[in-house]
Amino acid sequence: MVEKRSWAEPWKIKMVEPIKMTSREERERAIREAGYNTFLLQSEDVYIDLLTDSGTSAMSENQWAGLMYGDEAYAGSRSFKNLVSAVHDVYGYEELIPTHQGRGAEHILSQILISPGDYVPGNMYFTTTRYHQEFAGGTFVDVIVDEAHRPDSIEPFKGNIDLDKLAAVVDTHGADKVPYVSFETNVNMAGGQPVSMANLREVYEYCSARGILVMLDATRALENAYFIQQREGGYLDKSIAEILREITSYSDGATVSSKKDNLVNIGGFLAVRDPEIARKARAMLVVFEGLHTYGGMSGRDMEALARGIREMVASDDHVRARVGQVEYLGNALIKAGVPIVKPVGGHGIFLDAASILPHIPMEHFPAQSLAAALYVDSGVRAMERGIVSAGRDPETGEHRVPKLELVRLTIPRRVYTQAHMDVTAESVMSLCERPEQVGGLRFTYEPEVLRFFQATFEPIV
Ligand SMILES: *Cc1c(COP(=O)(O)O)cnc(C)c1O
Repeated sequence: MVEKRSWAEPWKIKMVEPIKMTSREERERAIREAGYNTFLLQSEDVYIDLLTDSGTSAMSENQWAGLMYGDEAYAGSRSFKNLVSAVHDVYGYEELIPTHQGRGAEHILSQILISPGDYVPGNMYFTTTRYHQEFAGGTFVDVIVDEAHRPDSIEPFKGNIDLDKLAAVVDTHGADKVPYVSFETNVNMAGGQPVSMANLREVYEYCSARGILVMLDATRALENAYFIQQREGGYLDKSIAEILREITSYSDGATVSSKKDNLVNIGGFLAVRDPEIARKARAMLVVFEGLHTYGGMSGRDMEALARGIREMVASDDHVRARVGQVEYLGNALIKAGVPIVKPVGGHGIFLDAASILPHIPMEHFPAQSLAAALYVDSGVRAMERGIVSAGRDPETGEHRVPKLELVRLTIPRRVYTQAHMDVTAESVMSLCERPEQVGGLRFTYEPEVLRFFQATFEPIV
């Protein structure tokens, strides 16, 4: 009981959005029509939507009020000024380049800092981040610690950079071929695993001494700050706001997708300290996004974002409840013996589909099958993160078999209640009790690139 109370939501519900409760027959039809791919389901057929936490947050009354207050002036918008001061106060960066979302900021940063032939070390790739680094002529090199690849390792900071790996890249290619280190907080592709403050400090000291910039992907820095507070010695008495400012103090700038921590449905930014980098970024911004005082956002979007940024750190209660809800679901599953990736990360739960469905061989897609079965069982929409997502090896044409065959349950911020988490946990547990009722799938359509988005399947009978 005490555990449940400790993270209870610091808000109450003022407006509700009805969601459809469907019958099993309706869901069987819907998943068949979607080719057994949860990406192809209609949102109105979904009861609890755990596909992603990107752009799916619920805004507060203050943010909604901010929409009315948005200044839509083409140049010199008051809402831009409010956003600049929010980013400055909360993240500590002077220069702000507003973009339509995270990848817009990644594009601009990569274009201005990377020259063809450069190397960009980072702690595990993120799809869009790596794409833009390579699009600019750079080569991404993964320098994350080995523990990140071990689902059973309960290391507290599995997002850390391995300094030996980083030094090897710099020694091999020379510091002048490494424009910056791309340092992601609460590493998304590792399951929302944090980096430690000690590691941030060490990497920044190493890089500063060699004239290498440190650019954070601070998209999930708030959730990272929470894990530092809870897990790293000496931070329990510090506020989330203070910890976040210390995180960003060990960097020269950051890209942020505001669709995550920042509690809005669209938006993002690049923020830096160096006015010269900012000048170059603004020159690109006017070509690819919009004028420098709105970039890729409307005035009202910037107003809601400015308020979301202040709100996420106004009290530690927000992030405690956010991560607390993820941990609540994770702990319920762990208690029931369901195999999941540990420790539970900041934004979702990753089910180990290969262990849950040992009778389904990899070429019949255990994680895809589990995600489809979960939808049919309860209307919960999850997504596959396994062999289907990994695609085929371009050389051999064979499936790439990833180390992990997972189903991701991603929790939107401030959207679902504890009862929704209970329904989700019960549904997963009931599938785990009768795994033999879940069968494998085979392709009926396999797209050449990013096949997981649009592939269709049929059951193997
Ligand atoms: C979502 C995300 C991005 C990309 O941001 P978009 O707003 O989707 O363009 C980049 N990095 C991380 C860590 C993310 O989670």
